[in-house]
Amino acid sequence: MKKYNFNAGPSMLPREVIENTAKQILDFNGSGLSLAEISHRAKDFQPVVDEAMALIKELLSVPEGYSVLFLGGGASLEFCMIPYNFLIKKAAYLNTGTWAKKAIKEAKLFGEVVEVASSADANYTFIPKDWTCPADVDYLHITTNNTIFGTEIRKDLDVPVPMIADMSSDIFSRPVDVSKYECIYAGAQKNLSMAGVTVVIVKDDALGKAPREIPTMLNYKTHVEKGSMFNTPPVVPIYTALETLRWIKKNGGVEAMDKRACERADMLYTEIDRNKLFRGTVATEDRSVMNICFVMNEEYAELEKPFLEYATSQGMVGIKGHRSVGGFRASCYNAQTVEGVQALIKCMKDFEAQH
Ligand code: PLP
Repeated sequence: MKKYNFNAGPSMLPREVIENTAKQILDFNGSGLSLAEISHRAKDFQPVVDEAMALIKELLSVPEGYSVLFLGGGASLEFCMIPYNFLIKKAAYLNTGTWAKKAIKEAKLFGEVVEVASSADANYTFIPKDWTCPADVDYLHITTNNTIFGTEIRKDLDVPVPMIADMSSDIFSRPVDVSKYECIYAGAQKNLSMAGVTVVIVKDDALGKAPREIPTMLNYKTHVEKGSMFNTPPVVPIYTALETLRWIKKNGGVEAMDKRACERADMLYTEIDRNKLFRGTVATEDRSVMNICFVMNEEYAELEKPFLEYATSQGMVGIKGHRSVGGFRASCYNAQTVEGVQALIKCMKDFEAQH
């Protein structure tokens, strides 16, 4: 039976990306060696890194003066690298969910942290709007898409300080005004690649200002100066990222990804709002187009498990909601298809008809 992958991450990648990576794993550029066996310093691999970096700059219109890095450690390591490198005295954080909270925890190890607003009391069901960013902080940190709770800040905010953003779960799904950010980081395992590589876009002249010794590997400068090749980078995930970036470009770039994401999300939210069995979990205006969270309406609460079983029997994979929200979460990253969303909608309609 055909499977539809709604996993939150690692998650669905375009089929041709998987196939092209698989070919290179078997025989890299006709060398007779696997991509998994070559040196990262091999002459054929540098062009992979160069093209991937260039495509990121092209797709996101990254201005001059920024570097693109491919690091290890996941987005979680960035939670500490950010304050290590950028927190001079005081930083502002917007607390919109589990990942933001983790970033805040790390920042507190390095200096004063102002939590400008939080929706924790409402289990992060909305993005706080009524707040101002102090002008005397080194940066404002935001999580643009809250993977677990299904809320999203889908436009670049206007604040009086440089922003730093965790874009792990919505990077390359919309155009971004990179000039507003001192640093953007994203674990790759949603919209870009397999797990194992983190993309960082960093403003070069913002580096080197923090008043502390930074361990070599945690210093962005190290990686900028060495073209992201200070140590062995995750070779296979970087190659997969390159294939995804080519795919994004071929399919119309981030503008087209944005349009497709909004169309898919519209279809699914329309069904959630229409279907008597379900309701969305977050404020309508803050609904994520990447992670679509919904639960059973109260009077049908006992149907949660049966719906999950039914949807699973119809080929849906990964729609169980995160334990802090419950219910269901359909992750619709760039590679998600209209067909997949339609299949899920059909399950919801059929299940409604049975009850
Ligand atoms: N930030 C966001 C928004 C995420 O969704 C995740 C993982 O799902 C992380 C950070 C943590 O990423 P990693 O597992 O790469 O450390």
